[in-house]
Amino acid sequence: MKAIICALIIFSVFLYPAQAKEFIVTKIIDGDTIQLDNGEIVRYIGVDAPELRTKEGVSEFYARQAAQYNKKLVFLKKVRLEYDIERIDPNGRTLAYVYVKNLFVNAELIRQGYARAIVKPPNVRYKDLFLSLQEKAMKEEKGLWQEKKPDTESYYIGNKRTYVFHRPSCKYGEKVSENNRIVFRSRFDAIKVGYSPCRQCKP
Ligand SMILES: [Zn+2]
Repeated sequence: MKAIICALIIFSVFLYPAQAKEFIVTKIIDGDTIQLDNGEIVRYIGVDAPELRTKEGVSEFYARQAAQYNKKLVFLKKVRLEYDIERIDPNGRTLAYVYVKNLFVNAELIRQGYARAIVKPPNVRYKDLFLSLQEKAMKEEKGLWQEKKPDTESYYIGNKRTYVFHRPSCKYGEKVSENNRIVFRSRFDAIKVGYSPCRQCKP
């Protein structure tokens, strides 16, 4: 009996990928978030597209183009999801890598310069791929990389645990422990390795 149960478990584990469920994308929320036909909201892992509407009510550079490109890739199409360590974010959204046939949507958005690559531990399975695609897009000044944001600080403080970087004067930056602290000479250096700007001090 035990052997049969074991065999069944092994069998179902192997069977699982072949049965990967497909969903239809029914709504584009922005460049990195979609809604599926089952109502689920999906936030792409490892990418951050410019905000369509910030708290100040403005649209960030290239936000509209990013949402439009996302729409072109997935809207009303069948998608497959792949999960990392965390399946749901604090806002209740599903975290996933999204595929349309063989197209890896998360990677494509970064490759074409419609989104930045961000590292958010523990969901970092494709970190190296995303950062290398981003570096190439930055060099080629694709999409959102056409915008030049000058450095307004002489250095920035990064947190190695959260992958967020701050202005030197930010109270959250000051709180970063010695062990987790990393100093960047420019915004570019921080972004290149997957750090996200702090939402408070907006470096
Ligand atoms: Zn900050």
